[in-house]
Amino acid sequence: MGISLIRDFGYDERAIEVMAVRERSGAVERLTENHTMHLDGAEYECMALLEQLREAISSSTGSGSGGGIGDGGLINVAAFTLWEQIDGWARAWLREWGHDHKGELAAVIRRLPAKTQAAHAIGTIDDDLRERIDATYAVWVAKIEDLFDPPREKELTAPCPACGERYHEDGETRRAAVVIPVKVGRAIVAECRNCGTMWGTETDLLALAAGMGIAVDFTALRELVNSSN
Ligand SMILES: [Zn+2]
Repeated sequence: MGISLIRDFGYDERAIEVMAVRERSGAVERLTENHTMHLDGAEYECMALLEQLREAISSSTGSGSGGGIGDGGLINVAAFTLWEQIDGWARAWLREWGHDHKGELAAVIRRLPAKTQAAHAIGTIDDDLRERIDATYAVWVAKIEDLFDPPREKELTAPCPACGERYHEDGETRRAAVVIPVKVGRAIVAECRNCGTMWGTETDLLALAAGMGIAVDFTALRELVNSSN
C-alpha cells in the first residue's frame, strides 16, 4: 500500500532515488517558508515555493496579482496539477498512518517529516520507504522550480536503450525521446520522455551513451551545471 502511494503519483522507485541525488537539505523549508537563496555571490529573498505555486494558480482566475509570466494559461494548468499531486501525496501519508491530514498544505508538509520518523520508529515503514518519502520533498522543489524556470534540454538523438523509441510525440510536436535537462546547480540526469527511465549516476550515464552508441561530453555538461560563477 505504502509503495503504491508513491507509484500512483507518477514517481517510480528509480526516479525517486535519482532525484534524491539533487539538493535535498532544506527542501521542506524551501517549500513552506520564505527563505534566502545564494546565486552568483548575491542573496535573494525567495517566497515559499508552495506560496509561489498557489499564486501561479490563482493568477489564472484573475483574482491574483500574477502577471509577468508569459504563457500564463499553460503554467496555471501545470501549477494546479502539481499542487494537487503534492497535496494528495502529503495527505495520503498522514491518513495512511492515522494522523490528522487537514489544514493548510504547508502545515501538512511541515508535519510530515516527524510523522514519517515516527512511522519508521515503530516499524510501520522500512528504511527504504522512509528514505524515499524523505527524498520526495526535493522532487517537489525541483518540479516547482522547473515550472517557473524550465531547464534547457539537451536532446540525445539515438533511440532509447530501454524502450527502443527514438522520438516522443506530444500532440503535434515530435522531439527526441531521451533528454538531459541542464540547469545550474542540478545533478545531471538523463530521462526518456517515452518510457520514463532515468539515468543518474556516472555509471548509468556512461552505460546510456554506450547503449546508444554515441559519445556524450559529460565534462562539458558538468561545466554547464556548475557555471554559476
Ligand atoms: Zn525509453
